[in-house]
Amino acid sequence: MSNIEQTLSIIKPDAVERNLQDKIKNEFKINGFEILQEKKIHISKEEAEKFYKVHESKPFYNDLCTYLSSGPIIVMKLQRSNAVLENRKLMGATNPEVAEEGTLRKKYGISIDKNSVHGSDSIENAEIELDFFFKD
Ligand code: ATP
Ligand code: MG
Repeated sequence: MSNIEQTLSIIKPDAVERNLQDKIKNEFKINGFEILQEKKIHISKEEAEKFYKVHESKPFYNDLCTYLSSGPIIVMKLQRSNAVLENRKLMGATNPEVAEEGTLRKKYGISIDKNSVHGSDSIENAEIELDFFFKD
């Protein structure tokens, strides 16, 4: 069964700041992901607010948007079989302190807010999020 999907990954400001992008990109490659498109960008607070609109009502919304717009990020269109779920598995839990051994957030994350990577959480959201950064 092939089930090829595409998903959005973001290498967040804390990881770009520590120059971890090549290490993280390599983790995707050795785990079977193809990086179809990628770009390094620095988004505005307003764009971050749009991107994280689903979290609008959360107490951490403002800090989250300030953080995502605080420095350059790498956005990537990833492809593999079951890409959405496989990316979430590779990333690990939102909080690096409880993320499983070997996951990206365990290896590279600093804290729940500086957790190094974002990944779409459903096929539907992957389409919306890919559209947000890669309109082609
Ligand atoms: P992401 O969407 O970044 O891939 P996620 O899907 O694992 O992460 P979400 O619940 O969508 O987690 O939360 C989005 C982001 O908001 C998280 O990556 C994290 O940085 C931040 N966040 C989530 N929960 C909290 C919290 N309780 N306190 C502070 N920040 C939080
Ligand atoms: Mg999420």
